[in-house]
Amino acid sequence: MMKQLGCLLLALALAGSLSGCGSSGPAEGQTFAMDTVMNFSAYGEKGEDAITAARERIYQLEAELSRTREDSEVSQLNQAGGEMTAVGDDVWKLLTSAKTYSAATGDAFDITVAPVVSAWGFTTDTYQVPSQAELDTLLQLVDDSRIQLEQRSDGCYAALGQGQSIDLGGIAKGYASDCVAEIFAQYGVESGMISLGGNVYVSGAKPDGSAWRVGVQAPQDSSAAVGILDLTDAYAVTSGGYQRYFEQDGKRYHHIIDPATGYPAESGLLQVTVVAGADAAREDDGNPAGTGTMCDAFSTALFVMGEEKALDFWRSGAYEFDLILVTDDGRVLVTDGLADRFTPMDGSEYSYETVS
Ligand code: ADP
Ligand code: MG
Repeated sequence: MMKQLGCLLLALALAGSLSGCGSSGPAEGQTFAMDTVMNFSAYGEKGEDAITAARERIYQLEAELSRTREDSEVSQLNQAGGEMTAVGDDVWKLLTSAKTYSAATGDAFDITVAPVVSAWGFTTDTYQVPSQAELDTLLQLVDDSRIQLEQRSDGCYAALGQGQSIDLGGIAKGYASDCVAEIFAQYGVESGMISLGGNVYVSGAKPDGSAWRVGVQAPQDSSAAVGILDLTDAYAVTSGGYQRYFEQDGKRYHHIIDPATGYPAESGLLQVTVVAGADAAREDDGNPAGTGTMCDAFSTALFVMGEEKALDFWRSGAYEFDLILVTDDGRVLVTDGLADRFTPMDGSEYSYETVS
């Protein structure tokens, strides 16, 4: 199922920018990669070149990180049978970050959930409900503390535990957004916006100095929004159980797996949006990737954790970010750091609460 969120997010942003001053518009691009629609918009002399470079970088990342491409670095790791394997800079950063955020979220995020994701058919689009016996066996493989990372004089190496495999689907698009942010900076794009299937990055403000307007999709309706975020120089990443799912015997099974049960997470949340300033990453948090990577890992993890644990984690202040949670009983919870940057949708059926 192709994801529509990116389109909605960008459409709203562009509608906002067109009503601005009379200056010429941004360079724009769209591509399909990492199983999702990606949109780019970049102001400035080198906007066009920046988008070309961003596209190429994303294709490179896809070739390295895809689980379904036999020759990707991730596939090589998955096929190495627990042997130490040389990995490039991108995989190294992603593995380090994934382990950091797994530990931070009490293992709600765990890239070694891959065999379970596959058992449900989400890797190959051949969906099925696995037996409890199969899940019990596969769950013994889910434990990212068994991933070993080693920096040697000739480069970086990684090994999975025996029988394990990894799936970077919950973090790769966030990392890609960090990489595009870097490219925008290199090309002098001080104003721009990207949406990589629900992973949004806005560079600076719009050319007229106003904030970018980013729509937060309504969970069950890709053409509706729960509200609008006014963002400057920030990341906003949304995860939801409606992005990829199948139905069997009247029950819906989605693609975000609770590593504790092996089942699609049923936490009472329909959707989690994580927002962080582009300068918010702390240098000592052990994360070598960027803030987009963090937001992507947390959007998946907090969806698994549910309202109470997610808000406890936010309140702990261990990482700087804000949240918009949509619950299955129709509430939209907005953490207070976003209070003056989030506008509820007019006439919405949701009830809105600010959380502190
Ligand atoms: P999307 O890819 O739809 O934007 P997410 O960022 O939430 O959504 O990532 C979901 C993907 O992450 C799944 O398709 C799967 O590949 C992987 N995944 C599922 N459950 C987990 C989990 N608990 N921890 C880490 N990765 C997960
Ligand atoms: Mg994610």
